[in-house]
Amino acid sequence: MPVTDELLKNNERFAESFDKGDKPMPPARKLAVVACMDARLHVSKLLGLDIGDAHIIRNAGGVVSDDVIRSLVISQRLLGTEEIILIHHTDCGMLTFEDDAVKAQIKDEIGIRPPFALEAFLDVDDDVRQSIARLKASPFIPRRDNVRGFVYDVKAGRLREVEGGDLEVTGASASLPQAAAR
Ligand SMILES: [Zn+2]
Repeated sequence: MPVTDELLKNNERFAESFDKGDKPMPPARKLAVVACMDARLHVSKLLGLDIGDAHIIRNAGGVVSDDVIRSLVISQRLLGTEEIILIHHTDCGMLTFEDDAVKAQIKDEIGIRPPFALEAFLDVDDDVRQSIARLKASPFIPRRDNVRGFVYDVKAGRLREVEGGDLEVTGASASLPQAAAR
């Protein structure tokens, strides 16, 4: 694992000058961010967050899955966060395939169709609205008033806010392929 070995050396250097070991567990900014795992999103840097500032929850697409809800329940109920920022982005890999085709391909290869949704989507703005709608519809998340969603432009490094979040909640976020209003 040459890359891992190289990164462990980076970590040794990081630890030598580390001086932020006294931060408390609850995030200082009382913020949770849900973002796509895309390697071009450096969430802390693009938001100016420091160690100890926020929870950052990531997966393919920044999808509000049951497991993201689980993390947000812990984030808000046990660790006092109050605001949620959702970050999707331009040129997302989730725009490049359809669930059924990939699930059929997996079944052809290994004989088992995945029981979980891959949650590909057709329109990034729609999926941000769908994610906001899912959060607002979850009774498990106590603080849902301060939820805002954004599309990050991977070429420009800039966030653009997506208005709305009043779409009907659906099981599969790809089912609302309406054109973006702007
Ligand atoms: Zn992505």
